[in-house]
Amino acid sequence: MGGDLYALDFDGVLCDSCGESSLSALKAAKIRWPWVFERVVSALETWIVDQMHVVRPVVETGYENLLLVRLLVEIQVPSVRKSSVADGLTIEAILENWSKLKPIILKEWDEDRDALINLFGRVRDEWIENDLSGWIGANRFYPGVADALRFASSQLYIVTTKQARFADALLRELAGVTIPADRIYGLGTGPKVKVLQQLQGMPEHEGFSLHFVEDRLATLKNVIKEPALDGWNLYLGRWGYNTEKEREEAESIPRIQLLDLSDFSKKLK
Ligand SMILES: [Mg+2]
Repeated sequence: MGGDLYALDFDGVLCDSCGESSLSALKAAKIRWPWVFERVVSALETWIVDQMHVVRPVVETGYENLLLVRLLVEIQVPSVRKSSVADGLTIEAILENWSKLKPIILKEWDEDRDALINLFGRVRDEWIENDLSGWIGANRFYPGVADALRFASSQLYIVTTKQARFADALLRELAGVTIPADRIYGLGTGPKVKVLQQLQGMPEHEGFSLHFVEDRLATLKNVIKEPALDGWNLYLGRWGYNTEKEREEAESIPRIQLLDLSDFSKKLK
């Protein structure tokens, strides 16, 4: 008995979805806050999408993309400002302070997290329904990952804050891989720390070596805080959505191994 079990994050580890999530966020934000976006000309929209690639490391859950696109507009267009933080705010400051900014703007915009999550999901569903190939084409799997998944001999689980049905559609359509639904833990299945505990507690996983691959340093630090998860090998993917500063910090944490993309693909085999 035994073998290797890999719990894999989705966005930023398997799939580069930043183009798609930025465009979905723009679509959703225009529905939610039309008065903010009616003055957004296409040059500003291009700037927003470019900046979204820079700030992507702060996003934990998809709906935060909506907050970010509106905040970026507020930085550029003073007349639509409703938050106290936008004046003079820099991209670096967003990267540095997102966890503090997020509750402030949610409150000042009088917004509700769950309503934004639902809206974001609905906008994606509509995009998928009306233009499946366009939606899929806005995503890409990192080089070598699709083959690595297809030929993996390890037990694979997906542990993501994305809604499971979107991860499933991308795995099938872009990577040509079907991962059974009971192996995809998506948004709503609880914090990743809890999912990892569940996986390690399953009788069929007794004796397995446990590996968790993430691109978000904060998530790995949460795992380290939980003594029950001491048995997991933790990896930070260098190719995903993290900053140079975070990679440097990760190097100083003995529990975390930094992983290059090519080594990741080899590991799954
Ligand atoms: Mg990720």
